[in-house]
Amino acid sequence: MNAHHLLYLVLAVQLAFAGIGWWVAGKLLGLARETAFHMSVFCLCSLATVTFTLQIAGSADLSWIALSNFAIVASFVALGRGMRVFLKQPRSPWLDGGVLLAAMAMGVFDVTFGANPFLRGALIAAIAASVLLRSGVSSARPIAREFGRAAAALVSGLLVSAGLIFAGRIAVAWSLWRAAGTLLISVPTGMNQITVVSLTSMLSLFNLMLGAMAVMRVMRRLQRVVRRLQHLAQHDTLTGLANLRSLIHVMSAELARVQRGGSTWALLMLDIDHFKQVNDRYGHAAGDEALRQAARLLRETARPSDTVARTGGEEFCVLAPDTDLDGAARLAERLRHAIAAAPVGARKVNVTISIGVTTALPGAKGKGETVQQAMARADAALYRAKAAGRNRVELAHGEDSEDASEADSVSSRFD
Ligand code: GH3
Ligand code: MG
Ligand code: MG
Repeated sequence: MNAHHLLYLVLAVQLAFAGIGWWVAGKLLGLARETAFHMSVFCLCSLATVTFTLQIAGSADLSWIALSNFAIVASFVALGRGMRVFLKQPRSPWLDGGVLLAAMAMGVFDVTFGANPFLRGALIAAIAASVLLRSGVSSARPIAREFGRAAAALVSGLLVSAGLIFAGRIAVAWSLWRAAGTLLISVPTGMNQITVVSLTSMLSLFNLMLGAMAVMRVMRRLQRVVRRLQHLAQHDTLTGLANLRSLIHVMSAELARVQRGGSTWALLMLDIDHFKQVNDRYGHAAGDEALRQAARLLRETARPSDTVARTGGEEFCVLAPDTDLDGAARLAERLRHAIAAAPVGARKVNVTISIGVTTALPGAKGKGETVQQAMARADAALYRAKAAGRNRVELAHGEDSEDASEADSVSSRFD
């Protein structure tokens, strides 16, 4: 076995591993399935090219040359298709089929009539060059858009360079013909060895880059799913406001801050008055739209630093950090007026809200107070606002916090 054969053998092993790698990635791991299929075909056809080329040397049979030429064209067509699938570009079955048919017709002609070897070499090189150059040029923009310019320069650059190697061989074919040399790839000339080594390195690097891009795409998709799940876990789906869980999270932090000597906070508990009638009169869909608009009004009227949450069907809470009872009462009035002044929903329904307000207990600094206790105070104030005729604001009294039964009824929401 000479050095040329060894080179081909190494190449064959490498292509076999790459092919298996793509097959495992696509079939077993579900990574870029269709692209992986085309890339497996690319590796398989390249492997066939290498195997047929090795047969050429020891045989006068032209069919090995024809087979090897067809296999290399087929491998580049599969690579081009793989790239287009990966980049979601339109496929070109007619063009791909035409290229394969041309390569096949050439082979049949060659075996039947025995073509001029330089013309045959130049034609095959022209087909290979055009397939590779087309893939390289058309993939540059979509890769740059999704993976950045550096990735585009590298991946498309590799394909274009591989195409240029074949274009170079067309030019060399003419001079070799005149010098009575040989273009046949199986003959270990310097040019052939440079062609094989550089093509192999470029296409291996290309394989690696495409694999890395496929993994990167999956990772990005996963990140988006995780972000979406995080958002869903913390927000109410109807209104997009924070949900009860995230309100409790923010409140726990605020309570801990006050206990460490930080400034007070205010909690407003809001409930839309007679909302059942809105549903009964205009339908549930109109009720939903009214809830969405009411939520938007609350969010726009509160400060950006306030947490506005939907804690139940038509119940909302506003947690205002750094706000004392006076400030909280003013905020509550602003919210109440905002809702009363703007008809909500597609049916332009006029609704009002009742609000219960509480702040951190005066003696809370250094003492522990639970979220449930604070919410029970706001809830008791809200209950009084409802009892006193609705569409009004009630401030929590000190004794609200002592009412264990209230605290119990609210704590059931945290289960
Ligand atoms: P009150 O003034 O005492 O609060 O009267 P209300 O009718 O608002 O109170 P009640 O608790 O009796 O009814 C609340 C209504 O809110 C009942 C339910 O149909 C409605 N509701 C709760 N969640 C949703 C929702 O997601 N969409 C819609 N459209 N309606 C909801
Ligand atoms: Mg209500
Ligand atoms: Mg209610």
